[in-house]
Amino acid sequence: MSFRATVLSLYPEMFPGPLDLSLAGKAREAGLWSLEAVQIRDFATSKHRNVDDTPAGGGAGMVMRADVLARALDHVAGPQDARPKLLMSPRGRPLDQGRVRQLATGPGAVILCGRFEGVDQRLIEARALEEVSIGDYVLSGGEPAALVLLDAVIRLLPGVMGNEQSGEEESFEGGLLEHPQYTRPQLFEERPIPEVLLSGNHAKIAAWRRAEAERLTRERRPDLWAAYRGDKPV
Ligand code: SAM
Repeated sequence: MSFRATVLSLYPEMFPGPLDLSLAGKAREAGLWSLEAVQIRDFATSKHRNVDDTPAGGGAGMVMRADVLARALDHVAGPQDARPKLLMSPRGRPLDQGRVRQLATGPGAVILCGRFEGVDQRLIEARALEEVSIGDYVLSGGEPAALVLLDAVIRLLPGVMGNEQSGEEESFEGGLLEHPQYTRPQLFEERPIPEVLLSGNHAKIAAWRRAEAERLTRERRPDLWAAYRGDKPV
C-alpha cells in the first residue's frame, strides 16, 4: 500500500506545488504516494463560511475554529483511519530524521495547516493531534511546513531514491552530520580535492569521512554531538 497524504488547508492550491517535480513528482506519478489537498472552508456552515474567530480573552489576530476543523478532519479521516494526524505548529516537537523515518514506514499522514494565530486548543486535544514544528521561527501558515515534512518523508519511501544507500549515509542517519562532498574538477580556484579521496583506499576514505563528520558535528551541533557520545543531559 502506498503512502497516503491528506492535507487540510485554506490554500489547497499550494499542493502539490514543488512536490510535483523531481523525485517526489515522479514517485507520485508512479503511485508510490498519493496526495489529497482539502479546502477547510468547505466545512464551514455559517453564511459567510467563516473558519476563524476572535481569540477568547482578547488580543490580536484570529483563531481557527474547532468545530469547522473537526468536521474537516472527521470527513477525511474516519475512526478506522490509522494515519497519524499532524498539526503543523511552531509549538510542536521539532521534526527530526527519526520521526521522518517513522512516518515513511507508516500508512501516510493527515496534515492540518494552521493560519492566523493558530487553532483552538480544544481541537488539538479532542482529535489527539500531534503538533510538529519545522524549526524555531514563525511561518505565516502551515503549508510550507507541510511541504517540508512531506518532502523529507517521500524521499525515504521505498523505490523513490535511485541509490537506496544514499539515504543511509546522510546527515542525521548515524547521529552525525554528513562529511564534506567533492567532485570534478580536481582543482577549483586553486583548491584541490583532498588527496585521500583520490587514493582509491576505501578504508582510509571511510576513516577520513567519519573523522570529518565527527569534526563538523562537534563544531556545529553540540546537541547532536552530545547525543552521539551518549552524554547525559545536565
Ligand atoms: N501564534 C502562533 C504562535 O506564536 O505559536 C503562530 C501562528 S503562525 C502565524 C500560523 C501557522 O503557521 C501556525 O498555526 C502553523 O500551522 C504554521 N507555522 C508557523 N511556524 C511554524 C513552524 N515553525 N513549524 C510548523 N508550522 C508552523
